[in-house]
Amino acid sequence: MVVEAEPNPYESARAQLESVADELAMEPWLVDRLSQPEREFTTNFPVEMDDGNVRMFKGYRVQHNNARGPFKGGIRYSLQVSRDEVRALAMWMTWKCALVKLPYGGAKGGVNVDPRELSSSELENLSRRFFAELEPIIGPEVDIPAPDMGTNAQVMAWYMDTYSMTHGHTVSPVVTGKPVSVGGSEGRYAATGRGVSYLVNELAKRRGESIADLRIAVQGFGNVGSVTARLLQEAGAKVVAVSDVQGGYYDGNGLDIPTLEAAADEYGTIADQPIGADPISNADLLEIDCDYLIPAAIENVLLESNADRVRASVVIEAANGPTTPAADAILRDRGITVVPDILANAGGVTVSYMEWVQDLQSFFWEEEEVNRRLRRIMLSAFDEVWELAAQRDGPLRDAAYLIGVQRVIDAIRTRGVFP
Ligand code: GLU
Repeated sequence: MVVEAEPNPYESARAQLESVADELAMEPWLVDRLSQPEREFTTNFPVEMDDGNVRMFKGYRVQHNNARGPFKGGIRYSLQVSRDEVRALAMWMTWKCALVKLPYGGAKGGVNVDPRELSSSELENLSRRFFAELEPIIGPEVDIPAPDMGTNAQVMAWYMDTYSMTHGHTVSPVVTGKPVSVGGSEGRYAATGRGVSYLVNELAKRRGESIADLRIAVQGFGNVGSVTARLLQEAGAKVVAVSDVQGGYYDGNGLDIPTLEAAADEYGTIADQPIGADPISNADLLEIDCDYLIPAAIENVLLESNADRVRASVVIEAANGPTTPAADAILRDRGITVVPDILANAGGVTVSYMEWVQDLQSFFWEEEEVNRRLRRIMLSAFDEVWELAAQRDGPLRDAAYLIGVQRVIDAIRTRGVFP
């Protein structure tokens, strides 16, 4: 048996690209170009802490490809942030934006910090200083950051203000995922989870299942997991298990999601709530008896070591990169349908695009309009992926990659190589 080495997300991302290179007849230089980022930026920067001491932090912005438009992608604050993690996340943004036909390339950023250890003013100081460091390489037509794990709308507001101060006027389209009061879009907060819920409803329909009969487990109870769980419960599904890093619950009759959302808001975790359900760990959740498993937290949770114990018949990757290539092969052999991350979680960047368009036009839409457009974009991408997968009699991930990567190489070939 091959023992799985510490899975490196950048290696996974490269392997996924290479798996479609032959079928797309990619020239070797194109594989080489796309299997690494166009540009990488690292900054070591100081932040003054509340006690007057100055601490150093390390941050990254990796710009994978911009053949289809400005670089786009979130900024993550987490102790797990590394150059290779950000490289992988940037590459996945390129395919994701192409798959849902947004006129963007892909990028990602991150700071190696646990934001929960910072006070609000320390978080503000860190965010402003990091964004000031990024100033030379970003801009509304260049590279447009957004929230990701550990960041939120308030952090985006500080970013936007910092950039605007150095430019002498308000530049709202430099970042998306902002509060509505400063140029954010209606519907952006819930967009990723809403996109996931549209796909779950559609997939159930195609599989001849009724949403009311589905038992769903969601790993992660942040922005994506909590909204996904709530919307699926509202749609009639039974959300039987949810968890965050500190713990979670299982109840075969369905959990009370609004109560857990209130707990997450108040305590920053859903663990240790007296809700009368069986306590489970974040790892247990992946092996729980359910129909649809939705990893909505971090990468590398479905591994060669646990993929054979997944009991769901469908995995929806609301997180980026939750399944390693080795685990993916096991799930495939076991006949488990996997809706890949670049499709499943594309709702967030899709509404980011709508926010950017609204900011550029200074003309704002109602939430209904945003959700309607989101639904159309998600379902049309799903349809294309589903059709190609059926035609090839292959997995949804390969179909999604074939479509996304094809669009990027079309753009590169059409533009040609600058002398
Ligand atoms: N961080 C989100 C993602 O991974 C959203 C990116 C964006 O809105 O630009 O897709």
